[in-house]
Amino acid sequence: MSLPSLSKKDQINIVGAGIFGLSTALHLARRGYKYVTVFDKQPYDTTLYSYFKGCDGASADINKIIRSAYGSQTEYQQLSTEAIASWKQWNSDLENGFDLPEGMSRADRVFIQCGSLSLTDGDELPEFEKATIKNMEDAGHKDTQLITTNQEHQTIAQARGMGSAMDPFLREKRGKSNVGVLDATGGVAIADKACRVALQKARNLGARFVFDPSAGAFDRFMTTSGGDVIGIQTKDGKRHPARLTIMACGGWTPSLLPELDGLCEATAGSVIIYKIPRASSLWERFSPERFPTWLWKVRDGAEGGLYGFPRDENGYLKIGYRGTKYTNPERQEDGIERSVPITRWTEDHQLRKIPSQAMKVLRRFIAEYMPELEDEGLEIETTRVCWYTDSFDNHFVIDHVPEKRGLFVATGGSGHAFKYLPNIGNWVVDAIEGIGQERAAIQAWRWRDLGDQKAFNVLMEGTKGARALGNVSLIDEHEETRAKL
Ligand SMILES: Cc1cc2nc3c(=O)[nH]c(=O)nc-3n(C[C@H](O)[C@H](O)[C@H](O)COP(=O)(O)OP(=O)(O)OC[C@H]3O[C@@H](n4cnc5c(N)ncnc54)[C@H](O)[C@@H]3O)c2cc1C
Repeated sequence: MSLPSLSKKDQINIVGAGIFGLSTALHLARRGYKYVTVFDKQPYDTTLYSYFKGCDGASADINKIIRSAYGSQTEYQQLSTEAIASWKQWNSDLENGFDLPEGMSRADRVFIQCGSLSLTDGDELPEFEKATIKNMEDAGHKDTQLITTNQEHQTIAQARGMGSAMDPFLREKRGKSNVGVLDATGGVAIADKACRVALQKARNLGARFVFDPSAGAFDRFMTTSGGDVIGIQTKDGKRHPARLTIMACGGWTPSLLPELDGLCEATAGSVIIYKIPRASSLWERFSPERFPTWLWKVRDGAEGGLYGFPRDENGYLKIGYRGTKYTNPERQEDGIERSVPITRWTEDHQLRKIPSQAMKVLRRFIAEYMPELEDEGLEIETTRVCWYTDSFDNHFVIDHVPEKRGLFVATGGSGHAFKYLPNIGNWVVDAIEGIGQERAAIQAWRWRDLGDQKAFNVLMEGTKGARALGNVSLIDEHEETRAKL
């Protein structure tokens, strides 16, 4: 239900300071909205978007993949092109000392263009990759999608200093197949630092942030008798009236906003992290100068779905599994089961393990593609589950909430929204203001029903579902080590 005549002087509340909340605050402030307040239960000014310091939102991470490769989904391809230009601008802002967050320096970067490699174990490129190559060429980005087995492309990659990124797992040297495409426009976002930069930029433009487990935590909506939303109440009991409230709580959104039933669900991805010692020869080998972000059989179900990164500045080498997305269904007050995030840092119950299936696929891959980790005696340093907000069709959800005047939602990242931190907020503000509604992306992100479509992500299977964490065996790095002894 759209909001007529929102004025630049109206109060706007945003709940959640992940990438959707941050980017929306930044772009609202850029467009001249004077009273934008973002609430988050995380004390991000002290935890600095670091998972290791207690942050458990999807955006609070060491790194994320940036890619233009989107197969036939050209609306996201275009969005990536726009985002990558902004990522480069943010790097240059840092270099010039603009919007520099406290504790970061001019030498910091938020985007490293080390390439993003998509690999298959088959003999032929999957249709998705073929579509990407065509659509990037059609959009004028020739020679950005480099086929690993094509000699001409290998030469182009060499000339761009990306030669080693074409075969980062040394497959050819090992006499193994290496079929894939390097998206040379892509690379890695330094996620925690990027969130800090976005925060600084939004603050510099006048947006306010309330980061506190009580004063920043959403408790309930303030509503009129007719059901319009006229603000929020936070956990400390304070009321915050607003003309517009935007819910951007990532994996927590579906349980805070039951209207999303059937449209979005919180699901967990599994992550393992190694630590490469600075003295190890692997420090250079897995550096972003030599090693790309990568995806392996990412659309191939439970036995595939891996992705990974070069090591970061502290030596952390992260590898993730999304072949199965797990759920944590809990019965809520209205009697309906909804999946809610559970992490190492949640208050009541914590989860320090990952599903054994994830560990099995990760181990198998490492033995075959990265044997040097085990050869050097490196153990997994830590494991993490990280919560996606999946929509049934994998598109974001950016729209006014039907029948709730004054309420808007920006969520449904579906595992691929981080790369749009610099620009997604601009689109959110367009959707709020009703600008360019005919564009394919805005249409895709509208409030919607599954109807007769086949779901890309099957949602709300509940406690009986095979992907519910209560129904799967779990393992952590210590148990694994003990099992091997
Ligand atoms: C394992 C994993 C890997 C991913 N990899 C990539 C990738 O490589 N590339 C990519 O582009 N994308 C990736 N994504 C997707 C991307 O991280 C997400 O789409 C994006 O970060 C979601 O941002 P968000 O703002 O919706 O949610 P979040 O980052 O989760 O932020 C939600 C915020 O809401 C706050 N909140 C929750 N409840 C309340 C409350 N009651 N009151 C106040 N605040 C509250 C939380 O504290 C949090 O700060 C990945 C996601 C996961 C889970």
